[in-house]
Amino acid sequence: MVDNAPFLTQQHAGLTIEGYSRAAVQSYWRIPELRIGFDLGAQPWDFMGTPTWMVTHTHLDHVSALPVYVARRRMMKMEPPTIYVPEEAMEDVRRLLLIMQRLDRGRMICQLHGVKPQQEIELSREHVITAFATSHTIPSLGYLVWERRNKLKEEYFGLPGEKIRDLRLSGVPVTREVRSPILAYTGDTSPAGLDNFPPVYQAKVLITELSFIRPSHRRERIHKFGHMHLDDMIERADRFQNELIICAHFSTRYHPNEVRRIVEAKLPACLRERVKVWL
Ligand SMILES: [Zn+2]
Ligand SMILES: [Zn+2]
Repeated sequence: MVDNAPFLTQQHAGLTIEGYSRAAVQSYWRIPELRIGFDLGAQPWDFMGTPTWMVTHTHLDHVSALPVYVARRRMMKMEPPTIYVPEEAMEDVRRLLLIMQRLDRGRMICQLHGVKPQQEIELSREHVITAFATSHTIPSLGYLVWERRNKLKEEYFGLPGEKIRDLRLSGVPVTREVRSPILAYTGDTSPAGLDNFPPVYQAKVLITELSFIRPSHRRERIHKFGHMHLDDMIERADRFQNELIICAHFSTRYHPNEVRRIVEAKLPACLRERVKVWL
């Protein structure tokens, strides 16, 4: 095994969250159980086996390892990966891969897809993703994973099993799809990115950025550059229904101890027990 990029790991509700994120350095996450990753700011050697990646935006700290990852999969004789990027970036990303192909003299083979806000991406029978618009300085998307189950429609409750089976065999749709949001990843965004897509606040696990924490940082400026401040989170304390809130993408001007100290001191109790400072 090669230890080329750091990451932390946490388990929650049957999911393993692995990742690392510091502003302007690198962001990358993956959920092995869902076989997906978010952002490619670097690519730990270990993450190569994850076949599908959703890129939130094309700032270097979120995309610079894309050619490395695509080339590595081919070198290791793995299936070409599937990569989703905001549709505005799609053509340039395709060209970037072609240029790297020329420079590196190795074919860059992947399924590249442009994504629009509100577009759905089918992952499997049980899981589907909705892309949602976030608010940053370049086109950007967040991604929310739904778990979907087929439940018997209420009008058939109490009917004997063989009756339901007969109905189903005769082509009557006896079930309806029920979705629950299990994980949301916002990428870089000002608070509008969360506010404009309420399921983000309901997902069991929320991975969000919290680039700024010091009281002296001016919030209008932070929002203008498409980021969040700790006070934005505190203002919205009663909206978060998430079981676990992972805060990451802290600015490099903070020492990890300063982040932990300020977050611990300022978060209301209802959030403190669910917030995980990812450092
Ligand atoms: Zn970033
Ligand atoms: Zn960014």
